[in-house]
Amino acid sequence: MTKALKIVELGNPILFKKATPIPDVTHPDIQTLIDQMIETLKHANGVGLAAPQVGVSKRLYLIWVDPVDTSAATIRVVINPKLTVIPSNKVRDIEGCLSIPGLRGTVSRNQQVLLHYQDRTGSEHTVHAYDFEARIIQHEHDHLDGIVYLDRLKSSHDLMTESYYTTMEAL
Ligand SMILES: [Zn+2]
Repeated sequence: MTKALKIVELGNPILFKKATPIPDVTHPDIQTLIDQMIETLKHANGVGLAAPQVGVSKRLYLIWVDPVDTSAATIRVVINPKLTVIPSNKVRDIEGCLSIPGLRGTVSRNQQVLLHYQDRTGSEHTVHAYDFEARIIQHEHDHLDGIVYLDRLKSSHDLMTESYYTTMEAL
């Protein structure tokens, strides 16, 4: 049985490092890492997970294809991605991060992006993503460049605790 990995939290310098490309995506070690990351993402109940968040500084992340209904959707494995911002509106919305428990922040992101990546078999794909999916892609892509969402905040006033966020959601 594949076991979930421990999620690296804020303070660990790996979160601020630029991750390196994966030359051989079909290598057994990479395949095992992908399976372990899938298990970790499901276990943590997140919408995305980047390899540096499990302590591996490689250009790989997972996202739910339909993050609104995770029970029905599948996980997209994104390797060696290239992200192109499509000229579009900037949208402000609240984000959290599995590596930054207890906090949420309002972050401005591009509404549309073009993502080019390899899947776990090495096949190449291009996806035009919008709205929430585009936001998750930008958040996970940042992890590969050593950027966390806190770096994208305009001010500390855009930050809130998880418990404040929960009461806000209940209103
Ligand atoms: Zn994150």
